[in-house]
Amino acid sequence: MAVLRFDAVKQAFNRKAVKVEAPAGKTSDYFGNYVFDRNNMRKYLSKETLKLVLNAIDRGEALERKVADHVAAGMRMWAMEMGATHYTHWFHPLTDGTAEKHDAFVEFDSNGGMIEDFSGKLLAQQEPDASSFPSGGIRNTFEARGYTAWDASSPAFILNNTLCIPTIFISYTGEALDYKTPLLKSIYAIDKAAVEVCRYFDANVRKVYSYLGWEQEYFLVDESLYFARPDLMLTGRTLMGHESAKNQQLDDHYFGAIPSRVSAFMKDLEYECYKLSIPVKTRHNEVAPNQFELAPIYEECNLAVDHNLLLMSVMKEVAERHHFRVLLHEKPFKGINGSGKHNNWSLGTDTGVNLLGPGKNATENFQFITFVSNVLMAVYKNNALLKASISSATNAHRLGANEAPPAIISVFMGTQISALLDKLEDSKGIHEIEMEEKKGTRLSLNYIPEILVDNTDRNRTSPFAFTGNRFEFRAVGSSANCAAAMLALNTAVAAQLIAFKEETDSLIAEGRSANEALFEVVRRNIRESKAIRFDGNGYSDEWKAEAARRGLDCETRVPLIFDSYLSRQSIGIFARTNVLNEVELQARNEVKWEQYTKKVQIEARVLGDLAMNHIIPVGIRYKGMLLDNVSKTKILYDEAKASEVAAQDKEIIDDITKHLNIIKQQVDEMVEARKEANKIENEREKALAYCEKIVPYLDEIRYHIDKLEWTVDDEMWTLPKYRELLFIR
Ligand code: ADP
Ligand code: MG
Repeated sequence: MAVLRFDAVKQAFNRKAVKVEAPAGKTSDYFGNYVFDRNNMRKYLSKETLKLVLNAIDRGEALERKVADHVAAGMRMWAMEMGATHYTHWFHPLTDGTAEKHDAFVEFDSNGGMIEDFSGKLLAQQEPDASSFPSGGIRNTFEARGYTAWDASSPAFILNNTLCIPTIFISYTGEALDYKTPLLKSIYAIDKAAVEVCRYFDANVRKVYSYLGWEQEYFLVDESLYFARPDLMLTGRTLMGHESAKNQQLDDHYFGAIPSRVSAFMKDLEYECYKLSIPVKTRHNEVAPNQFELAPIYEECNLAVDHNLLLMSVMKEVAERHHFRVLLHEKPFKGINGSGKHNNWSLGTDTGVNLLGPGKNATENFQFITFVSNVLMAVYKNNALLKASISSATNAHRLGANEAPPAIISVFMGTQISALLDKLEDSKGIHEIEMEEKKGTRLSLNYIPEILVDNTDRNRTSPFAFTGNRFEFRAVGSSANCAAAMLALNTAVAAQLIAFKEETDSLIAEGRSANEALFEVVRRNIRESKAIRFDGNGYSDEWKAEAARRGLDCETRVPLIFDSYLSRQSIGIFARTNVLNEVELQARNEVKWEQYTKKVQIEARVLGDLAMNHIIPVGIRYKGMLLDNVSKTKILYDEAKASEVAAQDKEIIDDITKHLNIIKQQVDEMVEARKEANKIENEREKALAYCEKIVPYLDEIRYHIDKLEWTVDDEMWTLPKYRELLFIR
């Protein structure tokens, strides 16, 4: 039975903070206790095995089967001591979530008895019968085999008494069916390409890491209220709801005191995160009521992605213990801010230099500018792809909605760096820069650190911003797997660095000095990528017009945004870096289009349902009451007076009738439109039909429902209202 609104409100209102027992000791005492990290490896693996595993992790060396057996034995011993009874390969199919299939640690021994077992074979590779995961047609169901294979670079962990082993997921024929495979390849590609470029500056660099620090935004809603909203339960967002008179106008929630129930939830969540080595550091209230944010210390990109995925599932569990539900949808509520997941990204060498941060001397600063200008060029050339990498049916509600980045990718560099780039673009050559250095002119490369010390100008409207020592990709959706964005960015920058080296080397081959050659190509990059730089207000309409003039991708229809994955440019860079081939790109797009269609389809069905069996009945009941009233006035008054008195009621009755009629008519039309769209076989065309023909009905129907909510007697309204969903906690 559906939960009734007033019962839900009462339950939510009376709820108290759940008491949380803090684990004994300091954070560092329990940090990583549930992770088979280097510490635990040292305890459970022989010296020889440990060395081979670390070589595999740090240098990408292959692991022999025999070694895998030793690791498996050590891992099992540790896991069982920690209370684990099962193990699973933990992978990231193309559904923005994680997948696991648990097996117990039991095997028959040779005498038919039971023993606890876990071999290197089971650790290294498995063949889940995973034929229902989306594959974009790469695996037909009769050839449903897909393999999961151990990713030794991300440590195994224990969750709910299950040993989870991070793995990649590939098809029988070797194509990637997940996010991790191409992410790892992109990390490898950018490592190789960046090391080559670093060597112009420092011959000792052997490895370049990509780093990611995500900031996760989310909403919390009391579980009783959540259960009384079928739209929230089934689609993750409210498909209707009249705006609350007060929402975020006063900015009183942002950075405000954290409410006690929420604070208990956060503490609990942090304990769980620390046990799993997720280095969460920052927590605060966000702009919208009941919206919060959590951010860790940044980590190597692959690990950071795993940690974010793990966080999202741990969060849901912990929230339930506190009688909350976490909303990770990008736009759960209309009219207030949505949620994103800022991806702070940088590159660093094994010699300890942040390539996207200003350096300590002229050489490091020149290197910094070299990398920054290559990032600019990469984002410029691949702005359409980067947008595709963050686009989804759900994120579409947030982007361009006047509180989030627009559906156009541009880069904010801040006034100081912009001035420096302009200056470099105009300067004649490396000699001029060197001379300026001697004179100590402020804008010479040597002085970047000084300039950056007070680099406080932040632009909140930019989808891709330089923030002093990293770039912040802010257009990523709160529910997304960060890997989609990170692998596109790493690939774009890797391909750009490869091109950069080729151009530089060809100038050197013509007899130019390395410095001159580098400087010339850097200047060319700065000049040619200029169109991507924008420091103004990204929310403004002028920017949309200006961006179109600059030739940036301005497409707003998500199914068409996905086309960018298959542009010649994208296919070229993915092939060049060996991250994804054309078959894989095509297949992944099929999945994206299908997912888009399904998400809109579910929303349309839920809205149709609620309109027919919640909204219309309530509207009719209230209308009936008013009609009753009108007929009763005739008992009391003469005809003239009665019609005068009834006139007011009649206005409301007419209004309700109008909205009810439109809702009914639009729902019918929407159902017909869906039937038409469902006949389309081609996934891209179908998604486009859903985007262009169905989505507008969702908005239109909602408009009339919200008007009714505003009119109808509060006591009759069955669904919790915004003022309840957003303010009870
Ligand atoms: P803000 O809200 O000001 O952007 P936060 O402290 O909330 O900053 O989050 C910033 C995120 O960026 C954190 O995860 C932090 O660890 C990460 N970060 C800081 N420096 C780097 C860097 N060099 N590379 C990648 N991420 C970084
Ligand atoms: Mg930030």
